Amino acid sequence: MWSLISPSLDNPMASPIEVLFPDIEDAPFRLAPERRDKLKAIFDEKNIKYSFDREAMRMRFEGADLFGGLGLVYVGVRGLEHFWALCYGAMHAYRAFQANGFQATRLTVDEEGRRVAKLLDWAVAGVKDGDPAEWPNDVPKPEAAPTEMPSRLANELFLGAAGFAVLHEVGHIVQDRRGQFGSFPLLECSQNH
Ligand SMILES: [Zn+2]
Repeated sequence: MWSLISPSLDNPMASPIEVLFPDIEDAPFRLAPERRDKLKAIFDEKNIKYSFDREAMRMRFEGADLFGGLGLVYVGVRGLEHFWALCYGAMHAYRAFQANGFQATRLTVDEEGRRVAKLLDWAVAGVKDGDPAEWPNDVPKPEAAPTEMPSRLANELFLGAAGFAVLHEVGHIVQDRRGQFGSFPLLECSQNH
């Protein structure tokens, strides 16, 4: 499903977030396992594929029904990168706060905290200022099926949100009437609502 308009064809530089592409593909189905078959049938009927946008710095999720025969969900890769970093930072911060008895906690007291702070600085600069810098070298990166915390929690949060955003765009493809879908400011949908 990911191969239709592969980012690797357009741009040979791989993104660290690509290891999660198979999980993103499965994420809409995991959100409602009891409706997996029904949703699969909709994906087949509408010929729904993903198209990656590496140019947009902003978060981009956008669904389009092309010619009635191809349903494209456009996904901004840079937005996904920054969003995963924010998920990881949030989970790290929460766990540090918890471990400290829910007292005010300075993240940069240890090496891991300093790496997370660097990751967050990069993500915030990308989201807020449109800084196009690539993923820094010595900071946490996404892993497929991680066994350690906070990567596991970060992936769960990230995949739940990404799956929800994809489902929202599938809604546009299946029944493209504006104003019908709830908006979600963080994972910004590109349609007018
Ligand atoms: Zn929308």
